[in-house]
Order: sequence, then C-alpha cells, then structure tokens
Amino acid sequence: MSNDSSHFDLLIRGGTVIDGTKAPRFEADVGITDGRIAAIGDLSGSTAGQTLDAAGRIVAPGFIDSHTHDDQAVLSQSQMPFKISQGVTTVVAGNCGISAAPLRPGMDLPMPLSLLESPAEGRFTTFAAYLDALRATPSSVNVAAMVGHSTLRAVTMSDLDRPASEAEIAAMQSLVEEAMQAGAIGLSTGTFYPPAVKATTEEIIEVARPLTARKALYVTHMRDEGDRVMEALEETFHIGRALDVPVVVSHHKVQNAQNHGRTRVTLPFIKESMQHQCISLDCYPYTAGSTMIRTDRGMIDGRVLIASSVPHPECAGRDLQDIAAEWGVSREEAAIRLQPGSAIYFMMDEDDVQRVLAFDETMIGSDGIPVGDKPHPRLWGTFPRVLGHYARDIGLFPLETAVWKMTGLTARNFGLHERGTLKPGHHADVVIFDAATVRDAANYETPTRPAEGIDAVIVNGAITWQHGRHSGAGNGQVILRKDKEVA
Ligand code: ZN
Repeated sequence: MSNDSSHFDLLIRGGTVIDGTKAPRFEADVGITDGRIAAIGDLSGSTAGQTLDAAGRIVAPGFIDSHTHDDQAVLSQSQMPFKISQGVTTVVAGNCGISAAPLRPGMDLPMPLSLLESPAEGRFTTFAAYLDALRATPSSVNVAAMVGHSTLRAVTMSDLDRPASEAEIAAMQSLVEEAMQAGAIGLSTGTFYPPAVKATTEEIIEVARPLTARKALYVTHMRDEGDRVMEALEETFHIGRALDVPVVVSHHKVQNAQNHGRTRVTLPFIKESMQHQCISLDCYPYTAGSTMIRTDRGMIDGRVLIASSVPHPECAGRDLQDIAAEWGVSREEAAIRLQPGSAIYFMMDEDDVQRVLAFDETMIGSDGIPVGDKPHPRLWGTFPRVLGHYARDIGLFPLETAVWKMTGLTARNFGLHERGTLKPGHHADVVIFDAATVRDAANYETPTRPAEGIDAVIVNGAITWQHGRHSGAGNGQVILRKDKEVA
C-alpha cells in the first residue's frame, strides 16, 4: 500500500479489486514482478514494462476450476482456450477416478477412461512421468493433478467386474504412493462408473492409505447421486474418517425426477458432518450433466443430447429420442449403437442447482469434457455463468462471494499454495472482467462460444488472454501438493 516510485513488469491500473477472500471490493492498482504480485494499492507513482488499464473493471484472482477432465487436454490442447477465455488460470485434473497416469502403453481403456485418452498421445507409466511431461511442455494454465482409482484398477486388474484382491490392493497402494511422492494432491474415485462399481469401501480405504501421512485429498464422484445419495454421502464421509483426510464431494447433485428437492436433506447433512471432519464440495451451474453414453433407465429417461459418438460422429448435437425414432429402435438400443461416446443428460432441477450453488461452502467446478465439437456448454461457460447469470442477474449471492467460490475457497480446500487470493507474494494469476457484461455465451446449440466480458487473463505474470484472443503464452506451472511445494 505505497505510493513510491517502484518499477513493475506489469501494472494493472485503476481497477476495482475483489481479492478472493469474500472481503468487499476496493479500488487499487496491482503491480506484478517476476510472476508474483508485488504490490496492491495506490501505485500511481510507479512505472512498468507493461500497463493494463482496468478502469471500471473488476480485478480478481484467476479462477480455479476445481473439477476438470483436462488431464490430456493440458498437453494436447495446451493453450486451453475453453478455460483461459473464461478467466480460469488453474485446473484440478484427475477427477471421477480417471487420470492420465499411470497407464501401460497399448492397454485397452474401458469407458469412461477412454473419453480422455487420444490414442496418438503417449502413455505415462508413472505419475512422475506425467508431471514431467507437463513441465517440459507447459500449458497455458496451472495444473494440480490427482491420481484416479479407476485408472489404477484398469492398470492393475485383469477383470474390473469384481472387488480387488489383496495383492491387487497392495499393487494399487504402491501406485498411489508413487503418485504421492511425485506431488499428486490426492486420489479420486468414480464408483458410479463401471470400472469401479464393484470396488468395496474397504478396497478404497486400503488403496488410499498413502494419503493419510500427507493429509492428501480424497475426492469422489460418489456411487449414487440419485435414490441412494444419502448412503453415498455416508460412505464418502466414512472413508474420509477412516483415512483421516479431507474429502471433496464432486459435482454435488440429486438426479432423476423422484429425487428432485432432496438437496433440502443432503445439504444439512453435509453441513452437520462438516462439524466433525474436513469436507468440501463443488458443483457446476447447469441442470444437465454430461458423461459417457449410458443405457440404464435412470440416465436415459429424460432428454438426452448426444455430445460425441465414435461409431456415429454425425449424431453429435442430436437428441437421442430423434435418433431412436429415425433408426426405428428403442432409446436404449440407440444408446448401445452410439457407444462409445458422451452425452448430455437433463436430470436435475433448477431449485436444487441453486440451493447447492448458494450453499456457503460450495466451490465452482466445470466438470467439462474437452472432447468433440458439441460438448456440454459448461466446458466454455461455467465461470461467467456463475458471475453473470447467478450472481448479477438473479442475485443468488454477491459478486465477492461468487469470486471466492472460484478462487480463495478452492485454493484453501485443495491446498494450492500462494494462489486463489490477490496478495503481495502470491503467484500473479489474475483475471480482469466487466461485472456489468460478463456472461456465458455457450449454450446447448452453440456450446463452444467464448464467454463475454472477460478483458484479460494473466497466468504467473504473463498476459495470456486479451481482447478476445489468446496471446500464445504457455506460462502454466505444475502445482504440487503443499508439503512438496514448500519443501
Ligand atoms: Zn464425475
């Protein structure tokens, strides 16, 4: 807070700072040097190599996407336009039990693991090799990565349709240990998905043992987000207590019509459980989900949009109902013929979505799947949709709260060191946006339209997005678990 004549690499002048702590906004300049925030305050006497005029604009910490499937995209689409254009500067990868490592070269990948793997890409046999590749060819965003339990099962077990044996559990546990030593921030599971449906609670606890010594995260796409959502929450919290580690409930929702309204029960249960153990949760701001093409009744009862299909790429963007009618078959038969691929399922209620979003401790995570031309619009629209539609237009919470849910809260919960809040000494991940016009432009018809109202995005001090264009900068870093970063 000085008015001396410092010199900065980059000076953001005249903006309104929302610092990511939920504190009220204030007018200030922000000076950046050597990739770090050097000063915040009245810096009018200072000079800089580069200056950005932020008059009338919000200056906030770069957004952290708490829930992504960007494991391969940060290498194969390393400019990450679908995230950078929203103001996202950090992605948490390795969610829902799926990670890019460890895998064996040439091994067959079951759905949904195959969704993220493009065959042309190299395979990483160790977690350390994956992180090394990211360091060697940096993405435009920072990456914090988790190891996925379904991936461990696929690489370890000959048959996924049963619980793991003691020997397989021991093998998976040593792979988790390797990932922990490399700097993974946690382990994710996806017991909702076929490769892990048969995993028992005990299997997960034993595989995850190496988390305990590091207080690394247990993150889960739970076994059930429908009729048995309460049992799934109980299992999740039980695993967290057995391991004595923080847990993250991924993309919290209650799906299928008969469960609409049940967030009135799940959220108080989560809140009460938070009194006794470390729990956090995230969600995306849409009533439709997206995942692999499934054929079970609960999933295909409502409207289903095909996002991608390997055997029928021409069906991307079309309704399952229309495809089934055209082929003269049932919806289930059409879904089988379209596999493997991904689809968008309209299965939530808007009141539940708003209740979860507004819940004090809920972080924002896109769960975007960076594959194909017709992805769920959350891939390009999640963060501006929360800022524009939910915070500004319908007033679900103040802008300061919206920013906190995508920055400071997320950095705290995931242990992302010196990120998520604007503070001298922190990494200079910054987004400059117009609070009056910021909005998501991606929708189900045109899902890859960049957000509006995002003026500039800075990653570790480098201007990476400005005036609606990518600068080409690839300044993202690999974020290690906190004890590895400070060691
Ligand atoms: Zn998931």
